[in-house]
Formats: sequence, C-alpha cells, structure tokens
Amino acid sequence: MSNSTKYIFVTGGVTSSLGKGIISASLAKLLQARGFTVTIQKLDPYINVDPGTLNPYEHGECYVTDDGAETDLDLGHYERFLNVPTSQANNVTTGRIYQSVIEKERKGEFLGRTVQVIPHITDEIKNRIKQLGKTGQFQFVITEIGGTVGDIESLPYIEAVRQLKWELGNNCMVIHLTLLPYLSTTGELKTKPTQHSVKVLLEYGVQPDVLVCRTEHPVNKDIRRKLALFCNVAEDSVIEAMDARTIYEVPLLMEKEKLDVIVLKKLGVESQGAPQLDNWRNFLNKFYNPSKEVRIGLIGKYVELKDSYKSISEAFIHAGAVNDCKVQLEWIHSESLTEENIPTKFNGLKGILVAPGFGNRGIEGKILAIKYARENNLPFLGICLGMQCTVIEYARNVIGLRDAHSREMNPATSSPVIDLLENQKSISNLGGTMRLGSYACEVEEGTLASKIYNKKKINERHRHRYEFNNEYKKQFVDAGMVLSGINPDGGLVEIVELPNHPFFIGVQFHPEYKSTVENPHPLFISFVEAALKKA
Ligand code: GLN
Repeated sequence: MSNSTKYIFVTGGVTSSLGKGIISASLAKLLQARGFTVTIQKLDPYINVDPGTLNPYEHGECYVTDDGAETDLDLGHYERFLNVPTSQANNVTTGRIYQSVIEKERKGEFLGRTVQVIPHITDEIKNRIKQLGKTGQFQFVITEIGGTVGDIESLPYIEAVRQLKWELGNNCMVIHLTLLPYLSTTGELKTKPTQHSVKVLLEYGVQPDVLVCRTEHPVNKDIRRKLALFCNVAEDSVIEAMDARTIYEVPLLMEKEKLDVIVLKKLGVESQGAPQLDNWRNFLNKFYNPSKEVRIGLIGKYVELKDSYKSISEAFIHAGAVNDCKVQLEWIHSESLTEENIPTKFNGLKGILVAPGFGNRGIEGKILAIKYARENNLPFLGICLGMQCTVIEYARNVIGLRDAHSREMNPATSSPVIDLLENQKSISNLGGTMRLGSYACEVEEGTLASKIYNKKKINERHRHRYEFNNEYKKQFVDAGMVLSGINPDGGLVEIVELPNHPFFIGVQFHPEYKSTVENPHPLFISFVEAALKKA
C-alpha cells in the first residue's frame, strides 16, 4: 500500500442515532482484521469543549481515555471493537475548535486578518483530522461526523470534508449512513429521504462514495439500483445494514455486504483474502449460546437512559461470554430503595453493582444497597462513587461514625471519610479539572484484588474529584476493611475490599472503560463468576 494515510469520512442522513459509531467501528474492525492499522475519530458539532460537563441524559456516558480526555461514548465502542486505546485527538468538538482558534487570535497569530469560519475554523478542523494521519501510526483514519447532514451546526465539518476530498483525491472517501423507512401499509422500503439527504450533501459539494442503509427489511436489487441511480453511487456501493441482535454482529454483516472490499477498491489498496475474524466469531458464538444465566442488579440514578452506563453494560457482555453465561442486568433506581423494600427488590439477584455518579440524589439508596450486600453475602462491586459509598457505609455502620459522609454530599460532616483531594481545593472551574485518565495502582498480595488481577501493578482510568481520606486509614484497617490497592505516587486508596465475604470490592477507578471483546476486564469476569457461584 502507498505510504499516504487513507481518510474515510462517515456522515449521517435522515435521522440521528443511526449508529455511525458502530458502522465506523465495524469497518475499522474489518480493516484491522486484514492487518491494517486503523484509528477512528469523532467530531462532535456541539459547543461544549468536551462532554465532561454534560449530564448523562444529554449524550449518555462520558468515556475517559488513558490520557485523561473526557469524550463521547462512541470512543468506548472504538476501543471495545479495536482493542487499541484512543486519546484526546480522537474526539474533537466545535467548542474545542473555536477555543483553539480564539486562543490563536488572542495571541495575535492571525496577524491582523479577519478570523472567519472559512478558512480558519475549517482549517482547524482539517488539522485535527490530519493530525492523526501525521502520527504515522495509522494506515486508515476513519472520521465520524456527528449530527445529521443539513444541521446548521455540522456545516463547517461538511465543508472541511469537501475541501479534504479535493486535497486528498484518491486517498479519501465518504460513506453516508442513512435510513430506509419501511411503510407497513404498502410493505415497501422508501428511498426518498435518502435521496434528499444525499441532495443536501451534494449542495455542500460532497458526493458520497458509499451508502450504508439502515433498514428493518432486506434491501432488494431494485431498491439498490434506484438508490444508485438517484445518488450517483455504484450499485455495489449501496450497502444494506439490517438491524442486528447485538452491535458485535455488525462487523460480520458489513463483511457479508463487502463494505471492506468496496472501501479498499475505492482507495486503491491491495488486500487479498478475507479478514481474520476467528476470535470475534468465537466471542459471538459464546455470546449467542450461553449455557447459563445470572441476574445482576445495577444500582444507579440514570437508569432510565441505558447509555449512561454503556461501558458497564458492555463489560458485562464481555465477562458473560468468558463465563459462558448471559448476564441479565436489572436496572434499579437508587432513589427507589429503602431498607424495607430492598429484600424484595433484590430477590433473585446474584450480585449488585453500585454505579459511578455525582451529587447527592440517590446516594442513601446506594448506601443501603451496599449494607444489604455486605450483610447478606451478596457479591458486590462498587465503582468510583460506588466505592466511596462503600467506605461511607462501613464508617457509619461498622466503625460507628454515624455522621460519616463524603464532603461532596455533606460539606459539614464531622467525619469526612471521603474528601476533596488536596490539589482540588483551589480549583473553581468544573471542565476537565478532575483526576482524569490512567494512574498506576499497586495491588496488595494475598487480597481478592491480587487474585483477580494476578499482577502487582495495574493501571486503571479515573474520573473523580473526591478520594478516600487517609486520616481514617487506621480506623478502617482496625475495623477489618482491607485497603488492597494503593496509588504508589500519592498513597491514595484505590481499592477496598472485605475478607470473609464471597466477593465484596470497591474501586475508585473505572474498570469498565478498559473492557474490550479481546480483553474482557478481570474484575467483571471475577464478579460474574462470584455471582454464578451464588446462583
Ligand atoms: N462524585 C465522585 C467524585 O467526584 C465520584 C465520581 C464518579 O463516580 N465518577 O469523586
């Protein structure tokens, strides 16, 4: 293959939520499985600098990379599919683009010229796209343009694509993901909305090379021919994307439709044979044919929107496949829990996970849930705020510090067992200022954590401001809690656990971000294993 990086853009038409992220990740998987190096980037048209300050109800979970970027949840899919870490460069928002252009303007870098959307904003966008190619690490850069074609806010991105198509020539192509609605009264798939959205793209000067059509019914030859004719694409470049049973099936559906072959041909890249997807197929096989089932409760406060805990639910899918079982997640609102109703609500659950979160709402329900798990030998995993609640519960009910709390929830508590990190005390800006990204943790030998990880030193990703308060360390240890993971640089407590319990562990970091199909996370694997034993 020639040395130049190939750029593939994925745009969306007709409606949002068609799954551009999954299509991008699936194409990337197919190229990777042919031996190419690939990365995926998401451009988000909103003005927030990153999704870190967004409520999960807005765009779902905020995903965190090793280098501490707070990003769109699609980056989680990229990592889960490719098993390659992403970074800050893989997610760019309009806010970030404008921020850097305005910073340059303030420094006087534009030498008195008027700063404009074209060329300054579009140049900044193009640089962000090409930056990934310039690292020399990737043969393919797939860039997903957030939003739907025709939105005012995504216009500068489409314009940048138009310019890059012109600059990069054969090293660049555009895939347009669209919807073919089905009219049940006439029993037909309709192509008109797709024709219109391609017309909008054409108005902006962008001709898509491939149409990927989301559909609930097979796309027959006539429809393919019609779309090809009206949208100026080759007939074999009209790709059917049927609804799949799981997102992990989509690479195989795309392989069947030869999306990888069409892309390689279009970009003039040689590749013989078929993608090597044996491991992927093995995983799917296990996923589809589990011999057992186990019910696990997910206690959180954004349970109405399952995307809020995307990485957690995906990590359970990976860990379920390893354990040859289907994990049936029961989503439980922590605000709904009381001491009285917990035994009924938890009836049949073989384990509970207390989710990450911010703020006071639902906190007491989480603490009650943990108390129940501790006292009833119910396998328990607490993540981030879930770990902090574990500490609070133990302080209150075992050590006897009745007023114990996190200073986040009760600044006036007399026992701040969870407190602000020293270097956080002077911070007033909320965006991008938490303890973010990958940090090392030393695992104490002879503990549950050490059995799970089978390693002395681990690296996990963080996203929090508050922390176990080391002034209480002795009281916890004396009362039987094991502090089994410590950050070697600052002595921060990262893992707490209880012996004499089948599985009771809280982690200050987010293991879910690092679970992938090829590398299911050991904490989730062991947690599911413990839940199965309980069953
Ligand atoms: N709100 C807590 C903190 O900031 C926990 C954050 C989380 O669960 N991600 O420390």
